[in-house]
Amino acid sequence: MTTISIIGAGPAGLMAALHAASRPAPTRVLEANAGPGRKLLLTGGGRCNFTHTGTPEEIAQAFGKAGPFVRHALYDLSPHEVREFFRTRGVGSAVEPDGCVFPASNRAADICNGLVAEARERGVQFQYRAQVKGIATAAEGFRIDIEDGPIIAARVILATGGLSWPQTGSRGDGFRFAAQLGHTLVPPQPALVPLVTRETWPRELAGVSLAEVRIGATIGGHRYVTTGPMLFTQNGIGGPTAMDLSRLLAEEWAQVGAGVEVAIDVLPAIGERQLDQRFQEEFQAAPRRTIANILSEFVPRQLSRILCRLAQCDDRVQAGQLPAGKRRHLVHVIKELPLYVTGTEPIAKATVTHGGVSRAEIDPRTMESKLRPGLFFAGEVIDLDGPCGGYNLQMCWSTGALAGRSALRSLFAAGPT
Ligand SMILES: Cc1cc2nc3c(=O)[nH]c(=O)nc-3n(C[C@H](O)[C@H](O)[C@H](O)COP(=O)(O)OP(=O)(O)OC[C@H]3O[C@@H](n4cnc5c(N)ncnc54)[C@H](O)[C@@H]3O)c2cc1C
Repeated sequence: MTTISIIGAGPAGLMAALHAASRPAPTRVLEANAGPGRKLLLTGGGRCNFTHTGTPEEIAQAFGKAGPFVRHALYDLSPHEVREFFRTRGVGSAVEPDGCVFPASNRAADICNGLVAEARERGVQFQYRAQVKGIATAAEGFRIDIEDGPIIAARVILATGGLSWPQTGSRGDGFRFAAQLGHTLVPPQPALVPLVTRETWPRELAGVSLAEVRIGATIGGHRYVTTGPMLFTQNGIGGPTAMDLSRLLAEEWAQVGAGVEVAIDVLPAIGERQLDQRFQEEFQAAPRRTIANILSEFVPRQLSRILCRLAQCDDRVQAGQLPAGKRRHLVHVIKELPLYVTGTEPIAKATVTHGGVSRAEIDPRTMESKLRPGLFFAGEVIDLDGPCGGYNLQMCWSTGALAGRSALRSLFAAGPT
């Protein structure tokens, strides 16, 4: 008999395992894949943006409405402590100017290996190719069904992830198990995912990126604004700014249905009036240069063509020939480039899942189910998602550690096993 079973060897499950581990109480990780952390190894393009600088309070705020729920876990294991944890296991970190934290080696495998090595050292047993088929309550706690037969566990930590990138193993099984055990599911939706637009012109720019834009959208009476890098895609817009917006819109779309007008400020560092002034000066200084030529000093050349087209001005016209009204219109298009977003790419292509096991049914101080004592949750299986930048992995570390520690504590509080 295993006394604590963790389902899923992703970041949340691995962190839970090593905090749940104690020699007298065998801890076992059941993982459907042939090895641990399949998604973790892909994170940050293989570099793994494993946390973000900031206080627990600042990180909690980035989770918006879910902030109060995740706050306790973040104080329990802060971003600073996560970096210290890895540093003391030989994985130093490097901080980028935007606060994103990566392993100094730029290798996600170092993070994954560090966790597995530590868990093994603490006595955790790993069982791979162990796809859990179902979980039911039993006299001793829970019966976990896998191909090889049932496993009895006094405590279960569900760390099965969400629905994104199902080829990595997160196929929503945990949602099914939680529902079977009586939990409510907030309908899963794609988040941190490229946005699909009604306009087809972004396709002409597919692969073109902008270092800093601001995207604004008003939906359901709320105003949402995101800032940062953006990328044009085959079907619309992607990159961190568009993906962060997808996350903010997910909740609204659940209420009012997909579809929203967005405006992209292509040059957010400069106000509309100042930009017009700049253009006037540039146009006067070089009246024979074409508009396309001058614009390409501000934005990528391919985009300058599209901007001119949308502003209905010929990009081959000489700057000195452009009427003031057209110039102002061009400036306006640059500052409020309109797009109609019809939805997102599918959840399989999303970075994270919005929705999952309802937070209202989980005790945020322990991660234990309020409905099924002895059942704990960690990571993306919970209705909990943060913005791009290492917030989601930090959430996995913090909820994982809290779930692991709480499961162990509740086991010992219950007496000898
Ligand atoms: C391409 C990509 C890049 C990303 N980059 C970053 C980044 O740089 N920074 C960041 O903060 N976040 C990033 N994320 C998000 C982050 O990877 C996830 O939020 C995180 O992996 C969720 O961890 P988890 O442990 O909850 O679930 P998962 O990582 O999905 O792990 C769940 C595990 O459970 C196993 N499992 C599921 N069902 C069963 C079952 N029935 N039986 C047994 N095992 C089962 C799965 O095989 C899987 O191994 C990225 C996501 C993607 C897709």
